[in-house]
Amino acid sequence: MEKLKILEFPDKKLRRISEPITVFDQSLKTLSANMLKTMYEEKGVGLAAPQINKGIRLFLIDTSPFLEYEKSETEALKMVFINPVITSETGDDWEFNEGCLSIPDIREDICRKSLITIEYLDEKFEKHIQKYEGVIARVILHEYDHLNGVLFTDKLSPLR
Ligand code: ZN
Repeated sequence: MEKLKILEFPDKKLRRISEPITVFDQSLKTLSANMLKTMYEEKGVGLAAPQINKGIRLFLIDTSPFLEYEKSETEALKMVFINPVITSETGDDWEFNEGCLSIPDIREDICRKSLITIEYLDEKFEKHIQKYEGVIARVILHEYDHLNGVLFTDKLSPLR
């Protein structure tokens, strides 16, 4: 496996709208494996393809680092999301301190919805429709934003 270079703010490539994936082959699996290695080596909990300069709708997460201090979560989620579509965002707004591998050394409290429904293909290219809440929903929303060229700092209140 190969560690990939992560683009950093203000690189304009982070602002592209990523394209749906149409070819499901071994190279996509290899890319996912390389992204996972990159995410772990950089100690991230999520990584989206645009961050490694691929304009495709793919991200992956592993929320296990949050288990230690997020008592409300019963289990961590390690998952690859291919062509994800978030079909609903509901529940309460809540703040959580977010960071991003593409914006080193900046962390901010960001307000997002607590409950999501998402359709996606997994790493075996099988389709799922799933609800997530709490920190898992939070990480998914952050990574999903990357596919649309949105960074978490875009969501800061203009009053700050
Ligand atoms: Zn990010």
